[in-house]
Amino acid sequence: VQMSHSKETLQQQDEKYVWHSMKPYNPNATLVVEKAQGSWVTDVDGKRYLDAMSGLWCVNVGYGRTELAEAAYEQLKELAYFPLSQSHVPAIKLAEKLNDMLGGDYVIFFSNSGSEANEAAFKIVRQYHQQKGEGGRYKIVSRYRSYHGSSMGALAATGQAQRKYKYEPLAPGFIHVAPPDSYRDDFGATDPHGIKDIDRAMTWELSDTIAAMIMEPIITGGGVIVPPDGYMKAAKEVCEKHGALLIVDEVICGFGRTGKPFGFMNYDVKPDIITMAKGLTSGYLPLSATAVRKEIYEAFKGSDEYEFFRHVNTFGGSPAACALALKNLEIMETEKLFDRSRELGEKVLNELSNLLSDHPYVGNIRGKGLLLGLELVKDKVTKEPLDTSLVNDVIASCKANGLIIGKNGVTVAGFNNVLTLSPPLNIELEDLAFVVKTLVAALEKIK
Ligand code: PMP
Repeated sequence: VQMSHSKETLQQQDEKYVWHSMKPYNPNATLVVEKAQGSWVTDVDGKRYLDAMSGLWCVNVGYGRTELAEAAYEQLKELAYFPLSQSHVPAIKLAEKLNDMLGGDYVIFFSNSGSEANEAAFKIVRQYHQQKGEGGRYKIVSRYRSYHGSSMGALAATGQAQRKYKYEPLAPGFIHVAPPDSYRDDFGATDPHGIKDIDRAMTWELSDTIAAMIMEPIITGGGVIVPPDGYMKAAKEVCEKHGALLIVDEVICGFGRTGKPFGFMNYDVKPDIITMAKGLTSGYLPLSATAVRKEIYEAFKGSDEYEFFRHVNTFGGSPAACALALKNLEIMETEKLFDRSRELGEKVLNELSNLLSDHPYVGNIRGKGLLLGLELVKDKVTKEPLDTSLVNDVIASCKANGLIIGKNGVTVAGFNNVLTLSPPLNIELEDLAFVVKTLVAALEKIK
């Protein structure tokens, strides 16, 4: 396709040909990006923006890493494709590497997206219970406010009604419980973080109908909800009590975002299943994985073909994506990006807390590693969410000054009020200072 490089023409062509997943906050200001380097993206007019949302779309090692492009190029020349119903070297090496990073005892199933990694997990837990003669266990428990993907099962697990009501009926058998929102503390002293709510749901739904619970270590898309330290361990114990497996969705939290290789490693648990995507390749190529404890995998072994796991996908674990992922993990380790994420995250959290503690609308600043959320409220006592138009003003003002930040939450009852920062883990210190300065200035304007 012959494309003119005038911004107006491209925007018109974009409007005419591309169906976007979500309209930008201001439809008249579609960002048409042409190239990127480090933490910065450049639009077709040559204007540069620091991409402090890149972590939610996954570019953990930053843009423009030629080593990653070369790893894919070399692999494409050597072996462009072969299905994983057979095998190939990059998939074997990557599975071995992921198992090491997870502390051993996992077998890796490859697919193409975070949604698909979760779909595979749901099918695995249901079939696992059947293989064990407990086919009545099919229900999956997840939390309100969570996001687990856009396909029918992953959407059913998602705890944000407005994302799904137009597409119902979704996959049946998904149950929701409360998220561990420490800021709002909805349950009070009797159940501070909703652990009893999980126990109650599993009890009243009947334990022997529950297959698994799925959770992110930190609910990211639903508003950067950081649980108290003991939450995940307590939730795992409740799962064990009811014979349910624990699936941990590391699609955003994985690969250093929260200051550890995987988010669950902050919370002293060993999940039964771990799903991962985006950061696995730092977003350079589509690839996802479902890591499954060996004991679960073993239950699928048998001579009868009906015991096979029937989830075929053409491109999952493609050689170039696996080769690129291996190089990506090597970069993260050589550049010590997990530690860097933790250290810089603490630094920014402190700086923002100091600079914004008196701001009338900044109700809560939270996060782990380079995943930070600022919850904006009308009133710090009632905690009523700030009007979306003011939240959008902050985002627009940052953008006008060359900084891309996002908002997370759910639109129900105005809870789309959490500003989100997630820059590349190798962001330069001066760029991080720019993020803080620009954000604080934008917040000053709405005072
Ligand atoms: N799980 C979580 C926690 C996510 O944030 C996302 C995507 N934002 C997904 C799953 C789905 O991943 P994908 O878009 O690759 O299907």
